[in-house]
Amino acid sequence: NIKSKEDVYNAIENNNVKFIRLQFTDIQGVVKDVEIPVTQVKKALETGISFDGSSIEGFVRIDESDMVLRPDVRSFALLPWDQGKGVVARMVCDIFKPDGSPFEGDPRYVLRSILKEAHDLGFSLNVGPELEFFLFQIEKGKATTKPHDFGRYFEFAPADLAEDIRREIVLGLIDLGFNIEAAHHEVAFGQHEIDFKYDDALSTADNVVTFRYVTRTIAKLNGLHATFMPKPLTSENGSGMHVNLSLSKDGKNAFYDSQDEEEVDQMTYHFIGGILEHIKGITAISNPLINSYKRLVPGYEAPVYITWSGPNRSSLVRIPAARGQSTRVELRSPDPSCNPYLTFAAILAAGLKGIKEEIDPGEGTDVNIYDLTPKGLADRNIETLPPTLLDAANHLAKDDFLRDALGAHVHENLLRIAYAEWDAYKLQVHDWETNRYLNAV
Ligand code: ADP
Ligand code: MG
Ligand code: MG
Ligand code: MG
Ligand code: MG
Repeated sequence: NIKSKEDVYNAIENNNVKFIRLQFTDIQGVVKDVEIPVTQVKKALETGISFDGSSIEGFVRIDESDMVLRPDVRSFALLPWDQGKGVVARMVCDIFKPDGSPFEGDPRYVLRSILKEAHDLGFSLNVGPELEFFLFQIEKGKATTKPHDFGRYFEFAPADLAEDIRREIVLGLIDLGFNIEAAHHEVAFGQHEIDFKYDDALSTADNVVTFRYVTRTIAKLNGLHATFMPKPLTSENGSGMHVNLSLSKDGKNAFYDSQDEEEVDQMTYHFIGGILEHIKGITAISNPLINSYKRLVPGYEAPVYITWSGPNRSSLVRIPAARGQSTRVELRSPDPSCNPYLTFAAILAAGLKGIKEEIDPGEGTDVNIYDLTPKGLADRNIETLPPTLLDAANHLAKDDFLRDALGAHVHENLLRIAYAEWDAYKLQVHDWETNRYLNAV
């Protein structure tokens, strides 16, 4: 458990660490890193390491490109593989401008600033994500969409061929300090889920980024391709990243109220109310790819309608049945391609607004929403999530609250990237179109 520079120096010595990877993410949540030999670690911790930010997506203009990485000592961990040329450790970094002020395009900074707002109200945020991913075969050095196995939900060997690889990923994550709760085959062919215990929001966002590269690396070492693409196979479930959230106050779960009939504190409903009010704009952040919207369709366990409920799993937002310290809200729309820092920041900002303004989430929906007819949906005033990235981006563009929460820099860059993605997609004629229309008209 590392808390100071001294702890880092001791850990380096005790483990004979030779290299340190300084890790951060761009605005899309893509992990970047620069490796330094341990001889540079003192400099990194004392003054930071300079780098050119201009070639990182969503960072800065060329004329102000000198940025400084400052490692967060609490994130020090030993990487579990490739120790042949010496032990490698990683530290996650915060990004600063040359004048020493934090860089407003650093996703970690954006999350930190919302967490500070929560802290000023006496709250800290716990987040537990459930990342799903696919394992595909590699042929001639190239990833395919051929599933590695034909297992189904919770299936066992021989249908589940990935037991050993999943276990290897789990062991790698444990080495990196993860507290793993469960690992299982998911519903789709070749699809898996590994759950780790919730933690404070910043550590969890770091963990999501780490989880993705550990999974990809260990799959690759086993000759497989791991992907967090939200919907790689047309007729199979896609991969989600349910986000479980709770607020703590004075070390206690603030969503739990033993006196309430449902044992749920009223602020939980307001938190949900805030999220629902801003969910359309949030979706551009939590579901950032063209492909994300192919997952958010009826019939594949993914949410489509903007509703909340108790334990019923067809809703966008759920309050799972667990109480006490496990009382939580589960948002089911995010997918594992998102930037976790910005996603958690946007969700928390909206939830806090809900608490401050006591936003009413409306009636819970206790029926299976997928069974409702269009009239049933209309009678209940049930709205849908944005159907495309374009629609989601338009909602984010109009959402002044989210712009203020994320900062103008991040808001503008997210929109620039989303619209560019849409424009590139729009130019393509897809196989589906030729198959459907070539002979029909
Ligand atoms: P599901 O039933 O939706 O499949 P899982 O058991 O797969 O749920 O995952 C539940 C997640 O919620 C785990 O990451 C767990 O650590 C997390 N969690 C549990 N209690 C809390 C809490 N109080 N706050 C935030 N996350 C929590
Ligand atoms: Mg789960
Ligand atoms: Mg589970
Ligand atoms: Mg799952
Ligand atoms: Mg879940």
